[in-house]
Amino acid sequence: MKKTAVYPGTFDPITNGHLDVIRRGAEIFDSLIVLVAIRKEKHTLFNLEERLELVKCATKDIPNVQVATLDKLLVEYLKENKIRFVLRGLRAVSDFDYEFQMALTNSTLYPEMETVFVMSSGKYIFLSSSLVREIASYKGDVSGFVPGCVIKKLKKKVIR
Ligand code: ADP
Repeated sequence: MKKTAVYPGTFDPITNGHLDVIRRGAEIFDSLIVLVAIRKEKHTLFNLEERLELVKCATKDIPNVQVATLDKLLVEYLKENKIRFVLRGLRAVSDFDYEFQMALTNSTLYPEMETVFVMSSGKYIFLSSSLVREIASYKGDVSGFVPGCVIKKLKKKVIR
């Protein structure tokens, strides 16, 4: 049977670390849907449309990857779309507590669900969207950290 997974996140903006996780997921699963969360409670640098557009642009060369919006509870999305697998990335031990809590809570709400964790390449282990936003806000060079389409958009944003 064809195996589909979702990779949910804020992607504010998508980084090379996210992209590394996406490429690994696309090899493991037949089909991978990157789910860009709306984040009503969180102020984001890029709005939903921008975050979606940047993920689409960064993943356009990976044929089995699609991009969609997550506008509800993740487990509701999974049930509605009959998807069981969730992909998440792990960096350092510091990610573990939060990821463990999320995975356990979600599997309580939807026992058929399975969370699959992958590690990104060692060179991205420190990389986060917040670090990229911080560097960009001081006009630092983010070219090693984010895909090409993100560099242009970050430059256009007036952050401070
Ligand atoms: P969220 O707000 O849900 O944490 P993010 O966009 O920050 O969304 O991250 C989505 C997922 O990608 C999380 O599982 C996070 O741990 C993972 N991730 C982010 N950056 C990296 C990276 N550099 N290496 C591996 N995983 C990462």
